[in-house]
Amino acid sequence: MDNCLFCKIAEKKIPSTIVYEDDDLLAFKDINPAAPVHLLVIPKKHYATLSACTADDAPLLGKMLALAPKLAAEFGCGVQYGADGEPSGGYKTLINSGPDGGQEVYHLHMHIIGGPHPWRGQR
Ligand code: AMP
Ligand code: ZN
Repeated sequence: MDNCLFCKIAEKKIPSTIVYEDDDLLAFKDINPAAPVHLLVIPKKHYATLSACTADDAPLLGKMLALAPKLAAEFGCGVQYGADGEPSGGYKTLINSGPDGGQEVYHLHMHIIGGPHPWRGQR
């Protein structure tokens, strides 16, 4: 897609801090982090929103989601269990879709937001 910021990032025409790449996906650091860890995972193929996806895209969407715990663990915000069985750490996965969903960049992306609180807008 011409003039799509994240297509340009996927094509390396605009610099980003890439943290993961394979044939289908790219993950990079959000330029305006809302928390100690804030990554974005995008498909290299352009989809304007999640609503542009169909059932045929389920494997790609599953791959995006499955990458989240892997990257969260790598960046120190995975979910861990203590000897008492209590969970600690953690992160959010978030896909904003459309204006009312708070989407600003119209190339499908999943946020991975985590790390110790406080985060922007959250205690
Ligand atoms: P959304 O509101 O879900 O569309 O989120 C768009 C996200 O893209 C925001 O969190 C921005 O901080 C982030 N963003 C915008 N431009 C860039 C960029 N050049 N590199 C990395 N992240 C960016
Ligand atoms: Zn795009």
